[in-house]
Amino acid sequence: MVNVARSASNRILVRLNTLAEKFINEDKSLKNLEARLQECIDILENYRMECEKLGSLHPETPFKEAYSIYESAYIYYMILFKLLTERVPQSHEYADAKIERRCQPLLEVYSTLKKSLLQDTMIDNVETFLIKYSNEDPSMKIISTQKVEGGHNLPSGPFLTVPQLQTILSDQKISVLLIDVRKRYEFEFSHINSVAVLPLDPISFKPTYTIDQLEKISFINSPMHELQLFQKRNEYDVIVLYTKDNDITAYYYKQMMSLLAILLNHLHHHHHHHHHHNIKYPKILFLKGGFSEWVSHVSKSEIVSNLSDGYKNNNNNSNNIPCIKRPVTTSPHQIPISMVGSAPQPPQIPPPRNIYPSPPQTIPIIKNNANVTNAKNLITPQGIMTNRSIPDAIVTAIPTPSPPPLPRIPMKVGGTNESIWKYNPTIIIGLENMSNSCYMNCIIQCLLSVPELIQICLNNSFLKHINMESKLGSKGVIMKHFAKLIQDMHSQQVKTGRSLFSYPVKTIDFKNACASVSSIYSGSQQQDCQEFCEFLLDGLHEDLNQCGGNPPARELTDQEERLREGLCMRVASSMAWENFLHNNFSLIIDLFAGQYGSQLRCCVCQYTSTTYQPFTLLSVPVPLSSRVSRCSIIDCFQEFTKCERLDKDEEWFCPQCKRKQPSTKQLKITRLPKNLIIHFKRFDNMMNKNNIFIQYPYELDLTPFWVNDFNGELPLGMTNSLLTKGGQVGPFKYQLNAVACHMGTLGSGHYTAYVNKGPDVGWYYFDDSSHRIVKIATEYMNPDAYLLFYHRVYN
Ligand SMILES: [Zn+2]
Repeated sequence: MVNVARSASNRILVRLNTLAEKFINEDKSLKNLEARLQECIDILENYRMECEKLGSLHPETPFKEAYSIYESAYIYYMILFKLLTERVPQSHEYADAKIERRCQPLLEVYSTLKKSLLQDTMIDNVETFLIKYSNEDPSMKIISTQKVEGGHNLPSGPFLTVPQLQTILSDQKISVLLIDVRKRYEFEFSHINSVAVLPLDPISFKPTYTIDQLEKISFINSPMHELQLFQKRNEYDVIVLYTKDNDITAYYYKQMMSLLAILLNHLHHHHHHHHHHNIKYPKILFLKGGFSEWVSHVSKSEIVSNLSDGYKNNNNNSNNIPCIKRPVTTSPHQIPISMVGSAPQPPQIPPPRNIYPSPPQTIPIIKNNANVTNAKNLITPQGIMTNRSIPDAIVTAIPTPSPPPLPRIPMKVGGTNESIWKYNPTIIIGLENMSNSCYMNCIIQCLLSVPELIQICLNNSFLKHINMESKLGSKGVIMKHFAKLIQDMHSQQVKTGRSLFSYPVKTIDFKNACASVSSIYSGSQQQDCQEFCEFLLDGLHEDLNQCGGNPPARELTDQEERLREGLCMRVASSMAWENFLHNNFSLIIDLFAGQYGSQLRCCVCQYTSTTYQPFTLLSVPVPLSSRVSRCSIIDCFQEFTKCERLDKDEEWFCPQCKRKQPSTKQLKITRLPKNLIIHFKRFDNMMNKNNIFIQYPYELDLTPFWVNDFNGELPLGMTNSLLTKGGQVGPFKYQLNAVACHMGTLGSGHYTAYVNKGPDVGWYYFDDSSHRIVKIATEYMNPDAYLLFYHRVYN
């Protein structure tokens, strides 16, 4: 967000602010709230169109022309800022709307608009550019071309074309370092095949960085070999940068240009200050048309693609630092190693949509009625969301950092959360009890309340996401059998309708599949449904884990860890999350994974040490008290997050005092997922069960338990969007969709499930092969509750 006070010291920004002010003050018309918000939507759209233009700026664009686009983007932003933070809140109609509930939809539009404003990441770049270049000579070009000696065959401008890059990559005499300026997961999906290529996330650096900052900060989440490769960059003849393409992704392209400028500045600096004329510096270029151009022109051996559909190119020596000069044995005409001995491949180049999947960040989770249909609405500062290759609108992998799509004035008032039911086919069918398998059956019934998961099973889109290279995966066994079971349930439903006398579906194949992965599911013993739920989600995740074949992320050094400890938990936990995503990237993570931090504090010197732990099931303790027979779920969360004192033999070894000290330990929730599964720890270590009645509401607000300590200070290289990624913006309100119940003891108990089938159908009770409708509204809130399945609501 623009810091107005900071900007005021800059003459240029004061001038533009005055223009924005003037625009607002000249508009004396008395608009009602709806018209005012419509105006804001229009201005936001204008702003985004200017940002889009910035993304497609050509290096040859005259400076004056580029500069004026920056100016107008800034003015639009400021107008919108003033309207949304001053004009609208001051109006009577807004104050009335806050009191009367009937204007709820307009308030939602307002808050969505404000959110897109605050989550915008482009304005920082715009502001920096304006301040930096306000005194420049208007005749200059955006990028001055550099003069670097050496390298015949090389183009003279700052960019090179796909054929030119192919030529230099196959030239034994020229060594090339490629820098892929896209998100890591996009890089991991596919990138240009070369001995020396590394990804650099566009959000990991700012245009103002020096080369040292780039090395110290931007690589903090990268494996060591990538940093080492980058540090050796001056030993190459040529460095080539590339991003997605030239015009579609404004923000990426702009960041690539910034990176180019950082590298060039560094070179110029060296040329000026040290007269080492015999030292050779690399020529720095960028690829015209970006990766999409590359994909549509080259053969598949020139692309490393990490898809499981057979195009996998086993270029997996990424653990070693590649040698500088190309080995003589590789040439683009040679057959890639992975294909030797395998069945002959068809000679055609596969269509680009297969080898170049659209990055998951642009795929909406659920098509949100009207919002997605208007193409204009999909322009974001990060780029335009296109429908290019959306596999199945329902699937996503990594939560998007881009701002929400433009809101539209709703036509009629309606419940905002009803949409999730539209995509969930109503499956009401029993499951056979295979020798004590009720622990499985209740979990499957409960998971049917998660529409995104059921969708990928029913439409087979999960097939495209199975990663055979995932080290911890079952090569798709768990995922395929789970999907088959869901499909069987669905087809049985279609056959018999909603009859209470339908035949139960057999689970034997699914159970055998689980047993093939973990032998504890092979026998006929009763198992803990919480453990099974964790096992199943973990198995599905590893099968779908797009990053399951990655080398482990680099551990933080002691110094980096201490630096992180000094940051607020919002920032530190987001960094830890990014690190976690490096090896864990699947639909399951997107749907179910949250994170908590565990903080140890020395009571003597106040030194702290925090570790961050991802979870798919949140296990909360149940308060133990013989005096009361009931408690509330809030008590459990308070117990979970309370500060515990570690005394006597529990004392922590403080690394600063270098001895055991009285200390405290506290857990804090740092990320809350879309689907929150809460587990009541009813069993103690002796397997005794605590049968206390825990009251839990239909609508649960966990906002107070989410760490909200952001103090406005972001370390260099981090943007607000990283903090808010994956919907990490309050409030965190949840609605109950399923309850797994446990009766009896752990070894000989029984499991059943209550599942919400949507507002038109109501709640159902499932007990293995039988099921019935729930007649009393509060029946699903009962003392046997063991796992709760909550779904986040956003109104
Ligand atoms: Zn200490």
